[in-house]
Amino acid sequence: MAALNRVIRAAYSPFTIRRLSDLVSDPAAIRIKSNPNPNTDPNLSPCTRMAPPVSREKLGTRSVQWVFLGCPGVGKGTYASRLSNLLGVPHISTGDLVRDELASSGSLTKKLAEIVNNGQLVSDEIIIDLLSKRLEKGQTKGETGFILDGFPRTIRQAEILEGVTDLDLVINLKLREDALLAKCLGRRICSQCGGNFNLAAIDFKGENGRPGICMPPLLPPPQCNSKLITRPDDTEEVVKERLRVYHRLCEPVEEFYRARGKLLEFDLPGGIPESWPKLLRALHVEDLENK
Ligand code: ADP
Repeated sequence: MAALNRVIRAAYSPFTIRRLSDLVSDPAAIRIKSNPNPNTDPNLSPCTRMAPPVSREKLGTRSVQWVFLGCPGVGKGTYASRLSNLLGVPHISTGDLVRDELASSGSLTKKLAEIVNNGQLVSDEIIIDLLSKRLEKGQTKGETGFILDGFPRTIRQAEILEGVTDLDLVINLKLREDALLAKCLGRRICSQCGGNFNLAAIDFKGENGRPGICMPPLLPPPQCNSKLITRPDDTEEVVKERLRVYHRLCEPVEEFYRARGKLLEFDLPGGIPESWPKLLRALHVEDLENK
């Protein structure tokens, strides 16, 4: 309960009053358009559906509060981290918080390792405790927004978050399941610099009305080659279990936000070079990249 109180305090505290204009030197650079029907934008792929863009009036003086949803391996971390750099808001990944906790050899380590390495979800209590500590730390640094990655993952988490924040947007990244599996199995992390890479060369043909997809590998620079590690939960058996858990527990969270008109569905059309500009367009922030 104390942990939940901390989340609530964090969400309602004065840390939500940093100006949007702090993000970039020219506040007008954040072009949050009032397009009456963004789903008819001819520049977006037909599989991209958008929630209405957030108005500047609604944001007022704080930074964006966005959430990334999506299956394991879809690239939530990659796109959340790129947007975080672009918008100047912190990227908070609950998966990273869990991995930090695992690396710290604290009292929770053994219990957490067993859960994570079996592809299961950590309890709502533990994850909210980790998240509230991270939010409190941000509060002391004056953070007023966030891009959450991997939270919420259950309806209960979504209800708690909805009770204490007014999320602007929930971005649901989507990719066909065979590509998700290949991407998890190809994922490598440099143990020295922390860089994320992917050795999978995905070139799946379209079939039965399903479009094909091509995602070139994201290879590490030579200096990282000998330091690459694989996440212990990225084995075939565990990834398949994580996907099952996602469909059972996390998919209802998509519906939760769809019903509230906050969900932006984004089908990844390919690798980063193809997907990134389209995602920026769907988010109405493409002109920030040019700056
Ligand atoms: P994924 O690639 O499966 O999306 P993450 O890196 O986001 O993985 O998370 C790794 C693991 O951390 C998850 O499999 C789960 O055990 C735990 N975890 C992360 N976020 C949450 C959450 N919001 N609720 C419960 N468990 C979580």
